[in-house]
Amino acid sequence: MAGFYIHIPFCKKLCHYCDFYFSMSLENKEKMLKALALEIEQRREYLGGETITTLYFGGGTPTICTAAELEELINTVKRFYPCQLEEVTVEANPDDLSADYLSQLKAIGVNRLSIGIQSFVERDLLLMNRRHNAQMAMEVVPMAQAAGFNNITIDLIYGIPEQTQAEWEQNLTIALSLGVQHISSYHLSIEPKTVFGNRMKRGLFHPVDDELSEQLYAILEKKLIEGGFEHYEVSNFAKPGFYSKHNTSYWNYTKYIGVGPSAHSFNGISRQWNIANNGKYLNAIQNSEIYWEQENMSAAEQYNEFILTSLRTAWGIDKKRLQQQFQHHFIDYFYTSIEPHLASGKLVDTGTNIRIPSHFFLVSDGIMSDLFFVED
Ligand code: SF4
Repeated sequence: MAGFYIHIPFCKKLCHYCDFYFSMSLENKEKMLKALALEIEQRREYLGGETITTLYFGGGTPTICTAAELEELINTVKRFYPCQLEEVTVEANPDDLSADYLSQLKAIGVNRLSIGIQSFVERDLLLMNRRHNAQMAMEVVPMAQAAGFNNITIDLIYGIPEQTQAEWEQNLTIALSLGVQHISSYHLSIEPKTVFGNRMKRGLFHPVDDELSEQLYAILEKKLIEGGFEHYEVSNFAKPGFYSKHNTSYWNYTKYIGVGPSAHSFNGISRQWNIANNGKYLNAIQNSEIYWEQENMSAAEQYNEFILTSLRTAWGIDKKRLQQQFQHHFIDYFYTSIEPHLASGKLVDTGTNIRIPSHFFLVSDGIMSDLFFVED
């Protein structure tokens, strides 16, 4: 069982908070689609014959592609890998979606949509330089439901400057009223190489303070849990039975392959990441040159990765798996380092698992880093 990720590295407009890799010129789109197909074929040995159960189109903006183009990539995966596809997700920008296009996506086997709504407030969308407006944000989910999609996730951002608690609560009320099955919600993070990061450096942008962040997070948890959602990962909430299968496999340490510029892969032994540059990626693929970097993970890196991915989830660290997978000195280190957090309630021992209670997810980074094994 393994996951397949296809990165579509194009966007029509730069969101001001974004530090993902993409290009705004669509000139090389056709060449890129051919290169992606070639990479899919060339790397068919990477997962050692593991069956692909989830396929995820991310970006960039996958909905820049026609349904026929996405279908061709799905068929290429099926041609070269054993597949039993349970979940095929496409990340979508609201203003790319029409009733026709949605029906076409459904017809080619897409069964999950991830819609980048981010906010239902016009001022937030303008500040973030999103392509869609508040009206499109409201209309797109009912349109997708009318096309037959019954597994829809939306992204929402909180901690946007000027956003009030009442506005955030209203965003969540609207999201709940739409009847989506899954919500991913992220605090706005200001990365240095973004428009917001640049404005912050010049003193023109001020992130919200920690106290407000905590209040917004508390509203998020309360509203969505009351609305019937399970908080199953730091940033992810789902109705029962609708956890993201693809992303859950990342957190459960399952193998995955990522194709396209900047895509990452993991086969249980090594991590690999493709060059984050469309031109260099295309040239390398065409000339059969190497377009990736790879690292074999040391035992300590594998242990830290296991801690990081497991503690992001509501189920946390499986003690039996920890015992089976790691040497004694890591296990001893683990049980010593969790003691203060168990005493403070930031970690809980369920008998089989060690997990972070969801109301402490906001400070999960600090808890995890205390548990990391530092090599001499
Ligand atoms: S659509 Fe997504 S990938 Fe593209 S600029 Fe906006 S946030 Fe970044």
